[in-house]
Amino acid sequence: MDTDVIIVGAGPTGLMLAAELRSAGVRPLVLERQPHRRDTPKAGGLGGQILDLLRYRGLLERFEAACTDPIPAPRFPFGGVHLDFTRLADSPMHALPLPQQRLERLLEEHADGLGADIRRGHEVGGITQDDTAVTADVHGPDGPYRVTARYLVGCDGARSRTRDLTGIAFPGTTYPEVNRLAQVTLPDTVRVLGDGGLDVPGFGVLRAGFTRTGHGLFGLAASPASEAVSLYTVEDEATEYDDDTPMTVTELQDSLRRVLGVDLPVEKTLRLSRFTFKARQAERYRHRRVLLAGDAAHLFPATGVAISAGMLDAVNLAWKLAAEVHGRAPDGLLDTYHGERHLAGARTMLHTRAQVALRRGHDPAAEALREVFSELLADEQPLRRMGALLAGGDIRYPVPDADPHPLAGTFAPDLTLHTDQGVTGVAELMRPARPVLLVLADRADLCEAARDWRQRVDVRTAETGDRPADALLIRPDAHIAWAAAVDEPAATAAPALRQALTTWFGTP
Ligand SMILES: Cc1cc2nc3c(=O)[nH]c(=O)nc-3n(C[C@H](O)[C@H](O)[C@H](O)COP(=O)(O)OP(=O)(O)OC[C@H]3O[C@@H](n4cnc5c(N)ncnc54)[C@H](O)[C@@H]3O)c2cc1C
Repeated sequence: MDTDVIIVGAGPTGLMLAAELRSAGVRPLVLERQPHRRDTPKAGGLGGQILDLLRYRGLLERFEAACTDPIPAPRFPFGGVHLDFTRLADSPMHALPLPQQRLERLLEEHADGLGADIRRGHEVGGITQDDTAVTADVHGPDGPYRVTARYLVGCDGARSRTRDLTGIAFPGTTYPEVNRLAQVTLPDTVRVLGDGGLDVPGFGVLRAGFTRTGHGLFGLAASPASEAVSLYTVEDEATEYDDDTPMTVTELQDSLRRVLGVDLPVEKTLRLSRFTFKARQAERYRHRRVLLAGDAAHLFPATGVAISAGMLDAVNLAWKLAAEVHGRAPDGLLDTYHGERHLAGARTMLHTRAQVALRRGHDPAAEALREVFSELLADEQPLRRMGALLAGGDIRYPVPDADPHPLAGTFAPDLTLHTDQGVTGVAELMRPARPVLLVLADRADLCEAARDWRQRVDVRTAETGDRPADALLIRPDAHIAWAAAVDEPAATAAPALRQALTTWFGTP
């Protein structure tokens, strides 16, 4: 075997997976077809539950320090409606203005620092597998070669070769609608008005904000205080663009001409990007020794959630693959990757598809729907619920217990913990990406029940105010595998804990 796990693609998903696998003592080999890190602008930031996870790994500060702009107040578009989470004391949804190129650089440095083997200019063209191994046919700078591993994960994006080669179906919809975003500077002949509009010679005034025409949607944000002007167009168009093919200024100007009939001179382009919305999800995330993650597994028809979903796939998958590679995975563990992340993907698909319905209607009925929706979201409870939905924080993974604790399957909250060594938190415990049994009451019975798993599971005792459970069994991806109810009798809690330890971490 040349390596433990082959990762196809060094986007955010593949790099996160490489780092998490290294943390779990596995040798990943990342094969990326691009010879250099790409500079096509894609995402402008990332948000949702992945930020909690990065904090739990001790990485968030580094990511925050690399942000291009001050971290914005939590306000998000939702299919043409604005969600204003600033009304909530503790918003469930946050985002970082961290352009994708910077995010990828940070992730690559992190994975590299942990010892991941990342090869650029190496394209995977073929995949074969049998009961023990998977082999990739690779074309590298020195010609073709083969590499064999225990598993291969396709993190190779929307047009995934891995998905095609393994015959995994990718059903769904591509919306015939192209969005173009630009940040430009304009020549002096175009005057920026005090209200943020533009006076364009030979055309007249372009209004700030959104303008709908018979040919599409136009958006403008400008200010006399800044040189940079933001432009946005949406047109119905059936062309399927490749996200890696850069947009040009001529393409932007042609689009502006079609939507508004304006010839807008541009002095300098600061950022140009284009995206088409697709709603597609792979039927299966696993085919024997080959797995899919990130855009290769799902494409959502709204912005702001895709990177988080892909990186969370990686975090969910890494510790399960590591258990397989180390030969201690319980039966069925690796299949829970599909069971859990396909479910999470379907939940994200639900709200991003709802956004399409809200966004695309142009008639008075659609306006009315958006208005009713906005009114509802002025109330705290629905707003909080939408925040959790957007962040991916309302997902509860299935657990095998007949009568599970309400916390089982959820993301572990960052409880404040008082220990003999001082005050700490759940976030601190999750840094090494190892399973933790967190005992929050005087429960020698539970510590004793976990004794045989001490090599694999860290046992920590602590006190916390208003404890939600007597003990939490937390997986490396910070999800709660099992919990003991407050004062649950030892006669039921100890065998249930042993069962949960066996189910998730194998026989000792
Ligand atoms: C204009 C634009 C704006 C966006 N804005 C946002 C946003 O604000 N928020 C958000 O969350 N998401 C946004 N997205 C989506 C986001 O960019 C993707 O979800 C993200 O890049 C997916 O990461 P990934 O690692 O799964 O795949 P990718 O980033 O696509 O990476 C896949 C990698 O695999 C490599 N590869 C492909 N085939 C092979 C092969 N055969 N062999 C070797 N390597 C291969 C590719 O070169 C690529 O580097 C935006 C996308 C676009 C285009």
